[in-house]
Amino acid sequence: MFINGEWITGRPQFQVTNPATGEVIGEVPDCSDQDIEAAISAAHNSFREWRATTAYHRSQLLYRAWELMIRRKRELAELMTREQGKPLKASLNEVQYGADFLLWFAEEGKRMYGQSIPSSRENQRFLVQKSPVGVVGAITPWNYPISMITRKLAPALAAGCTVVLKPAESTPLCAQAMLEIFEEAGFPPGVINALTVQNPARVGQVFCTDPRVRKLTFTGSTPVGRELNGLAAANMKRVSMELGGHAPAIVFPDADPVHAAKGLSLVKYLNTGQACISPNRIFVHEDHLEPFIAELTSRTRRLVAGNGMNEGTGIGPLINELALQKVDSQVKNAVARGARIETGGQRLTDGELGAGFFYAPTVLSGVTPAMDIYREETFGPVAPVITYRSEDDVIAMANDTDYGLAAYIYSNNLSTAMRAFEALDFGIIGINDINPTSAAAPFGGMKNSGLGREGAQEGIDEYLETKLGGFAI
Ligand code: NAD
Repeated sequence: MFINGEWITGRPQFQVTNPATGEVIGEVPDCSDQDIEAAISAAHNSFREWRATTAYHRSQLLYRAWELMIRRKRELAELMTREQGKPLKASLNEVQYGADFLLWFAEEGKRMYGQSIPSSRENQRFLVQKSPVGVVGAITPWNYPISMITRKLAPALAAGCTVVLKPAESTPLCAQAMLEIFEEAGFPPGVINALTVQNPARVGQVFCTDPRVRKLTFTGSTPVGRELNGLAAANMKRVSMELGGHAPAIVFPDADPVHAAKGLSLVKYLNTGQACISPNRIFVHEDHLEPFIAELTSRTRRLVAGNGMNEGTGIGPLINELALQKVDSQVKNAVARGARIETGGQRLTDGELGAGFFYAPTVLSGVTPAMDIYREETFGPVAPVITYRSEDDVIAMANDTDYGLAAYIYSNNLSTAMRAFEALDFGIIGINDINPTSAAAPFGGMKNSGLGREGAQEGIDEYLETKLGGFAI
């Protein structure tokens, strides 16, 4: 924990484990109510001075933090693999992606432009300025334990806000490493504070009710987001909500099914399927079913599950036993209702894998709306394939979900792709593209996938108030 520029010790600790081996890799303090109060006070007290610094000064500190992240890329990535489980190569990519937000917002912070608006009265001038919202409470998940921190903190700090971060209880060590970087970069005491806690409900409740916290930014599951959003709304707080997803991927008749299977296998098994933008319903035109399933199954079989530190590991463990049980129960439910397992379909327990939370990468065919997996986010390495006949049908099926985060389209026909892009109710759409994400592009969802956007110019607007000055001259 880091409060007002001090590392806090001498509290009861909780353990952090490696999901690939079950081994304890560290301990962190479990915060008390007094710590929550101290962190919010520190953020509140430092806000006046911090907001008065120039955008150029804040940019320099963000730039320094970016440099430190890049310098320590490998060290951070190794820590991430030990704590979260993803293969080292994926961790290296995440550290780079996380660092991108620092660099991008170091620049964007200098462009918080206002407006001068003509008045209908001769002796009046209107001036619009952007000002920081104030103290931000930030809650981040474990699946992207570094980039979800920088995606929130970089725009908040660039805007002139101060922050209290509460990282996920499964990955506090990555958060600690990031706080060390911010400290070394020279951010003043109180500007960035972090609370580690085993039971997060209390911190969430205080973030939503303490009048000094002006904004809540949350990334996590839809049920928790909905609860926090309700409480924040009652207290008139600004919110950003990056919640769950249930991404459709559509393979149109004019696409190359083998190319589509290659792309979708890469994005499906990324982070062992534990990504909010993971394709969770793969709609394949009936004419393409056979070659598509053959390619996807063959690629899935070749994936090597194991400890992410081992060379050649393509798929890591799930985060914990509960996550494993959820995946297993969705697969069993689908099979009981007529789905066919093309490969996988069981927990992996051989040799060293037995100590971790490993599930075999799985392809299911014959998936129908009667199955849980058709409606619920899986957050695991299961690729459910659904057959369709017409464009109209598949667009309706793809939109038939309470979520609206990411969607994917494979088509070699510009008109088909454009029609689908316009008709799909999702915030992020990859068109023959499995990586439609960047610090420079807006990320976020519609419907139950959340409110607001992160990254891009919109990402900093989330931390700014609009202030109008009417001047009588
Ligand atoms: P989660 O909601 O259980 O936890 C997310 C964070 O919220 C953690 O820090 C956790 O400690 C905290 N939290 C949990 N209960 C809380 C409470 N009552 N009050 C305050 N904080 C609380 O979700 P998870 O299982 O850790 O993360 C996976 C979910 O996150 C998935 O649904 C995934 O789709 C979503 N996600 C979304 C995005 C996005 O950008 N839309 C990105 C990553 C993950």
